Amino acid sequence: MTSTAPRPSASPPASSTSTAPGFTAPPVTVPGATAGHTLDGGIPGGDPATAWARRRDAYPLVSPGNRRTFHVVVVGTGLAGAGAAAALAELGYQVTAFTYHDAPRRAHSVAAQGGINAARARRVDGDSVARFVQDTVKGGDFRGREAEAFRLGEESVRVIDHFAAIATPFAREYGGVLSTRSFGGVQVSRTYYSRGQTGQQLQLAGSQALLGQVRSGGVRLHTRHEMLDLVVDDSGCRGVVVRDLVTGEIWAQTAHAVVLATGGYGTVFRDSTLAVHSNASAVWRAHQRGALFASPSFVQFHPTALPKDADWQAKTILMSESLRNDGRIWVPLRDGDERAPGDIPDSERDFFLERRYPAFGNLVPRDVASRAITAEIRAGRGVGPRRNSVYLDFRDALDRVGRETIAERYGNLFEMYRHATGEDPYAVPMRIAPTCHFTMGGLWSDYDLQTSLPGLFVGGECGWNYHGANRLGANSLLSASVDGWFTLPYSVPGFLAGRLGEELPDDDDEVVTAAVERARDRVSALLAVGGATGPEHFHRELGEILYNGCGVTRTAEGLTEAIEKIRDLRARFWSDLRVTGGDGHLNPVLELAGRVADFLELAELMCVDALDRDESCGAHFRDEHQTPDGEALRRDDLWAFVSAWASDGDDRGGPRSFTRHAEPLEFEAVTLTSRDYR
Ligand SMILES: Cc1cc2nc3c(=O)[nH]c(=O)nc-3n(C[C@H](O)[C@H](O)[C@H](O)COP(=O)(O)OP(=O)(O)OC[C@H]3O[C@@H](n4cnc5c(N)ncnc54)[C@H](O)[C@@H]3O)c2cc1C
Repeated sequence: MTSTAPRPSASPPASSTSTAPGFTAPPVTVPGATAGHTLDGGIPGGDPATAWARRRDAYPLVSPGNRRTFHVVVVGTGLAGAGAAAALAELGYQVTAFTYHDAPRRAHSVAAQGGINAARARRVDGDSVARFVQDTVKGGDFRGREAEAFRLGEESVRVIDHFAAIATPFAREYGGVLSTRSFGGVQVSRTYYSRGQTGQQLQLAGSQALLGQVRSGGVRLHTRHEMLDLVVDDSGCRGVVVRDLVTGEIWAQTAHAVVLATGGYGTVFRDSTLAVHSNASAVWRAHQRGALFASPSFVQFHPTALPKDADWQAKTILMSESLRNDGRIWVPLRDGDERAPGDIPDSERDFFLERRYPAFGNLVPRDVASRAITAEIRAGRGVGPRRNSVYLDFRDALDRVGRETIAERYGNLFEMYRHATGEDPYAVPMRIAPTCHFTMGGLWSDYDLQTSLPGLFVGGECGWNYHGANRLGANSLLSASVDGWFTLPYSVPGFLAGRLGEELPDDDDEVVTAAVERARDRVSALLAVGGATGPEHFHRELGEILYNGCGVTRTAEGLTEAIEKIRDLRARFWSDLRVTGGDGHLNPVLELAGRVADFLELAELMCVDALDRDESCGAHFRDEHQTPDGEALRRDDLWAFVSAWASDGDDRGGPRSFTRHAEPLEFEAVTLTSRDYR
């Protein structure tokens, strides 16, 4: 069945100013996909370093007395969503927030360990906003917007002050100043942290701010509610349709603006470091209703996750990147060396990151480290029972600074490792392997974080902004915080200012009842398939297809094969799915079935995007495009743009078609060069 919801066309924002002169995107060669138009991200022209200050000053304002006449829906209460909801309510707007969790503090952000970046340059080590921008743009391999990296750097300074003020206990030096450490891809120390629980402390502070607004009546919070659809009319997004996960009731909430802050879609791979319930349904439904999807194939594989030791494992577990400050990564020089790590002398160890990248050593960016580790494992030098990992060794750091200091820095991570593996990392090296961790792709939005569906905004990991083809460690807690607290509270009011007096559709308006019916129909369709196979089985199979075809490295042949397999799996899903239980009560199998149905469509688009982008950049490594040293080879003459996809077709298992729009990227402050971490 083809979706019949109205779809406003993806029109470039009127405020647009910058497009690369003479830009033409290469033709699309993927069967079933066509080229669309050139997009403009609406970045203020002129010096990118001052773009944000100028845009902030240009937003029209809503007077305090008029703010309560506007209703804003925020979906998601992670770092980005809790911030946006609390900040907009504090300003005086009526906010309704939804989360499928039973409490806001349970959002996946709570799991982040390592830290949050800020270009405050409190240490005299050469850091600055300009250096932050250079690291971020270069780290993303020049496939993100430069002006947005400036916004991130500029606002990072007040993010730290803000969170310290709302009770985040950042680590401090003996004298009281905030401590920092280094993350991959940089040579300065700009990562602020709360031991190995930075996300938890930030999320608790953000949730408390949100609950404060709930208490004072600024926010109506609906926990255990999942957004299933959007209310869309010819003018754009007019609200959301949600399902009460406890009662099964499906209802609509209209709004003058909707913010999606629903997190990343890495669980499309099933095994990932994300919380197991993280999913793509909200952004995918927005995409089906007309919002473009940018760079869907840009996925980050984190080098320091725990390897998969058993097929029944529910997920993979992250060991924070901060460990690479002190841990040294190595494999035995000899293939298939069976000796215990402690019995292998240094002369027979290959510290391959230090050897290949002496300037950055173990702190090369994640994409570079993951590829190098994967190459060692594929070459037969992997360690552990399945030979699918490499060592992360603290022996030298323990000798240098002692156990107490290492415990202070990473104690809870070492404890977590011991619980998960039964091995003591103070005595034997950790075993680590790359796994899916973060999605740089997401809903395309302009500089104001507004998607191509007017009135629909994005914040945090569910958007595509800032990180290009590879996110630098500790830049995501930052981008989610900046979006929630310091961008959306400017840009959403800027959008609302022109809509004073605009009436919202009534509950019995056809556009609302049709959206509710569509959501009910989809739930009924999942229950009605009546096959023999549970959604978990399809999810597992999809993950294997993606890891093999669209993983750490990709080839045209592998991607073509993956697309065929995904289409076949999707058809099987819609003819053989079995959902136990009904829809009038809490039913996790039904929830998973809906999420897997969406993953099966998104996965095809990811592979189409990866096949279309005939270059290597950042985490998107096409074997066909590499330097003689095995590094990613960009093709800036052809691919210096962001792909923003529209798709259409059958949403019950049949064929789909794709249109690639393109936003050209320009770099003024950072020179377009090949990345070199040697
Ligand atoms: C293990 C781990 C460690 C990490 N460590 C770091 C780190 O040290 N530093 C760093 O910068 N980054 C780190 N990251 C990345 C970072 O944690 C995330 O990118 C960031 O927290 C995402 O925040 P968010 O607000 O966008 O989304 P989330 O925190 O994922 O929140 C999503 C919210 O949306 C809700 N939601 C989703 N879909 C729906 C729906 N359909 N209906 C209703 N509600 C919905 C959820 O309930 C939740 O409230 C880490 C990631 C992982 C996996």
